Amino acid sequence: MTHHATRTLHEMGYRLTPQRTLVWDVLREHGSHMSAEEVCARVQDRFPNINMSTVYRTLELLVDLHLVRETHLGPTRRFFEVEEEVPHHHLVCETCGRVTHVHDEDLGGLGTTLLEDQGFATREVTVFGLCSACRED
Ligand SMILES: [Zn+2]
Ligand SMILES: [Zn+2]
Repeated sequence: MTHHATRTLHEMGYRLTPQRTLVWDVLREHGSHMSAEEVCARVQDRFPNINMSTVYRTLELLVDLHLVRETHLGPTRRFFEVEEEVPHHHLVCETCGRVTHVHDEDLGGLGTTLLEDQGFATREVTVFGLCSACRED
């Protein structure tokens, strides 16, 4: 299946260099959140001579094109993941670091309340706490 990224990259006139394609493939194969360092390590497994700044620039390009989403999960945790069609939010376990996706319907009326009471338009919600496995310990 061709992801819309391939088409978008062509439409935007970017050449699909092997390095760019590889960064994209690594994120898609992983299918979840990766730090920039993890992406670099995976790419280097296949292209040992690749310049790390190329990987960082490619990540930024994919974020600019809205193909990859950059999420800050805590002050020092910056993650990249393939952008999904449906917006999602994150539950972050402060003990094991596990990240779970939730969607708009899981937030109940939170978005509406914040808009009406605060005039605040919610784009993304990150909730910190304890996951079910950690709560059992
Ligand atoms: Zn946990
Ligand atoms: Zn996510």
